[in-house]
Amino acid sequence: MKLLEDRIKRDGTVLPGEVLKVDNFLNHQVDPQLMFELGAEFKRLFENEGVTRILTVESSGIAPALMAGYQMHVPVVFARKHRSLTLTDDLYTARVYSYTKQVNNDISIDKRFIKPNDKILIIDDFLANGQAVEGMLEIAKAAKVDVVGVGVVIEKRFQKGHQLVLDAGIHLEALASIASLDNNQVVFANSAE
Ligand code: 5GP
Repeated sequence: MKLLEDRIKRDGTVLPGEVLKVDNFLNHQVDPQLMFELGAEFKRLFENEGVTRILTVESSGIAPALMAGYQMHVPVVFARKHRSLTLTDDLYTARVYSYTKQVNNDISIDKRFIKPNDKILIIDDFLANGQAVEGMLEIAKAAKVDVVGVGVVIEKRFQKGHQLVLDAGIHLEALASIASLDNNQVVFANSAE
């Protein structure tokens, strides 16, 4: 998506450890107009999948997921992060290793917010090694619901997550796909230009 690639070129910075910092429009300060456009693009890409609910993880997935849900007229549920694993009968829980924070988080969703016939669209800000998406897939599996798509704002295609989602046979869309961050330069794969 050209609008997003241009914004990454303008405002993104590359940090050590192959981390792209985009905290002035996505991960800290959030640009609502841009999020609205991202939501419209997610709708265009997934509108034939029969999505009934969007699933994301707090906190950075919420803004794009909310806009996708707004455009698609479906509810948005965000998995909450817990410091300790408090398994109760009312929660679906998965353990997720955070790429940027290098800690394990237990993410959970109240069982009231996933229904048996749901068709889930997973949305997240980044796809790196795929741990966050794997956690959400685990929750969907436990809830016995279909995942009809994974939509991410930015994927780092050179890391494992991209292949992991494809290997699971799931429709994957990334609004910007980064082929490399070598030498602190952002190189897009299949640039929208
Ligand atoms: P994964 O679970 O796919 O390894 O990583 C996904 C999560 O890690 C994302 O939700 C995002 O919060 C964070 N993340 C991974 N790589 C990056 C990056 O390059 N930049 C930023 N800002 N966050 C990232």
